[in-house]
Order: sequence, then C-alpha cells, then structure tokens
Amino acid sequence: MSEILVDLSSDTVTQPSLGMRQAIASAVVGDEQRHLDPTVSELERRGAAAVGQNEAIFLPSATMANHIALKLLGRPGDEVIAEENSHLLIAESGGPAVHAGLITRGLPGRAGQFTPQQVRAAVHSGSSVHRPVTRIVAVENTHNSAGGRIWQLDDIAAVAQTARELGLSLHLDGSRLFNAAVATGLLAADFGRYFDTVTLCLSKGLGCPLGALLACSAELAPRARRLKHLFGGAMRQAGIVAAAGIYAFDHNISRLADDHTRARRLAQGLDSAGFPVDLPGVETNFVQLDVGVLGLTSHEALARLESKGIGLSATVHPNVLRAVTHLDVTDDNIELAIELIPSALRRRAPSLR
Ligand SMILES: *Cc1c(COP(=O)(O)O)cnc(C)c1O
Repeated sequence: MSEILVDLSSDTVTQPSLGMRQAIASAVVGDEQRHLDPTVSELERRGAAAVGQNEAIFLPSATMANHIALKLLGRPGDEVIAEENSHLLIAESGGPAVHAGLITRGLPGRAGQFTPQQVRAAVHSGSSVHRPVTRIVAVENTHNSAGGRIWQLDDIAAVAQTARELGLSLHLDGSRLFNAAVATGLLAADFGRYFDTVTLCLSKGLGCPLGALLACSAELAPRARRLKHLFGGAMRQAGIVAAAGIYAFDHNISRLADDHTRARRLAQGLDSAGFPVDLPGVETNFVQLDVGVLGLTSHEALARLESKGIGLSATVHPNVLRAVTHLDVTDDNIELAIELIPSALRRRAPSLR
C-alpha cells in the first residue's frame, strides 16, 4: 500500500492538535456520573447555549446521541420520518428499530432535503388502528450523503411549522451543524431552536478525537441522562475528552470557513481540469466526484487514487466519490490533490476512449 499524502476520505481522520492535547493534559476532571466533572459540565453548558437549548448531555458518539433522542421522542411502534439517505437510516445499523422500536420512513430528498408537503403527505395521524403513528421528523444539517448540503433556515422553519401543526416532534442530526452555521453566517442556535433534540458531533470538523453532545429542553434532559446510563454512555473522568470539546468550541468553529474555501478550490481546480465535479453542490466541506462518467467504478477509482497517495471515499451513490476537507488539510494539500486526482483517473480503459 502506498503512503497517503492527502487524506480527504473524511473529516473524522483529524489528529488532535498540539493545543488540543495541551488542553486535554491540563483538564480538571472528576466523576461525571456524579456530576463532579467540571470540564464535562462546562462543555455541556457551552453546547446547550451554542444550539439554543437549555441543556446538553456529553456522549461518546453522535450515533448514541441520535438514538437517545429517538428514544426520548418516540415509543415502540411509532414512526420516524427522515430523508431516505440520512445517516440515521443508512449508517446506524438499524438503531431506530433496535433501540427505540421505531418504524422508519424514508422520504426521497433533493440535496438531502424534503418539503413540508412531503411531510404532510407521509404522516399517519393515528386515526386508523392499522397504521403506525408518526411521531418524529428528523432533519440532517449539513446532509452527509447529499455531499455536505445545507438546509437553509427558511426551509427548516417551514418543515418545523408543518411538523408542529401535525403534532410531531423534531430531531436535528446536527453532526455538522457548525458547518451549516459558518457557511450561512448564522448561529447554530438559529437552526437548533426549532428542534426538540439536537445532536452535535465533536469528532468531525471540530477535530476532537471523539465525543458528541445531545441538546434538549430542561424537561427532556433528566430522561436523556437516564438513557445515557442505559445505553452505557455514562463515563467517569470524561473531562479528559470534554476538554478537547471546549478547546474545539474556542478554536475550531470559525475556521470551518477555511475547510469550505478549500473544498471550493478543489472543486474549481478539478472542474477546470475537465473533471466531473458537482460545483454548485459544494456548499461546505464536501466535493462529490462522479467517476462513472470517466468509465470507472468507485472501487477502481479509489484504488488508482490511493496508488497516487490520495485518499477519497465512496458514497451511497454508485460511482460517486467524495473528497472531504478538514483541519489537517492545507492549501498545499489541495493544490497537490488538484494535480494528482486527474493524473490518477485520466488513464481510461482503451475500450472507453
Ligand atoms: C458521523 C455522523 C454521525 C455519527 O457520528 P459518530 O460520532 O461517528 O457516531 C451521525 N450523523 C451524521 C450526519 C454523521 O455524519
């Protein structure tokens, strides 16, 4: 295997920076199960305020945050509506069914979004004894499998209004909510306040080694903390990790704009080289590349890229790869990728010429 020079496979590949490691090393810690870890408590306060909720609960992963949220908002046999390629439905091992006993209903999306009309048409109200009762609408912002696409605030407001009219609860998988906030110039709280529960992931663009927050109202928080225990997510001197989160809140949010600039630069560079990138679709830190147009499968393209030292990854869409920028990617890395990606993929099979 050749050495990877530029790893654009995911924004989860970041190494904790020196500053973050120093924050970890000097963290004041205690037993968080007994609410005695001041660093965890501080991160929870910061997280709740950032997304416009009363409380936040520190968790090992965003996956766990999503499932605690669904269990808070629904009962077994209830239905959750989400975009059909949302992380919740395609990348969490059937968790909604396993942990909360929910039926999942995937709505076809455009750029990861669905409309109030789609919600209205999909909802089962409970008037028929045959139907599962729809309880939850889940939104993902930014939307991972759509290519880091942003749900604009107006669209969220419209879906939220319809959901409330229909008596539904609202969950936001905001694993990359700060990307949406930075790209739109809004606050994460502007988005977060529409929802009952909000997941934030610390190990994506924020650059922490692990961790997530689930934010919610003061009414929901005690049950959420109980579920944290039930899921095995209650920890001990977790301030060691939470310190990385506080460091990220202080240093790694506004700089997400650099990741977005670099993704755009990469997309423009590849586009100029005649490569099939979805240029208008580059709204945050993802670039989608359709290698099918080049006569390649994802598998073939990834192998060729890897041999040149470039790490990309496959998506749910056949023959569409993604390049994801993050805080360990420099401007020079992007220029190198613009040079190496075309040279890796240009050689087509003779029969395709
Ligand atoms: C990565 C991701 C998650 C899960 O995050 P983990 O912390 O790895 O469990 C959930 N939702 C979305 C949209 C994600 O991108």
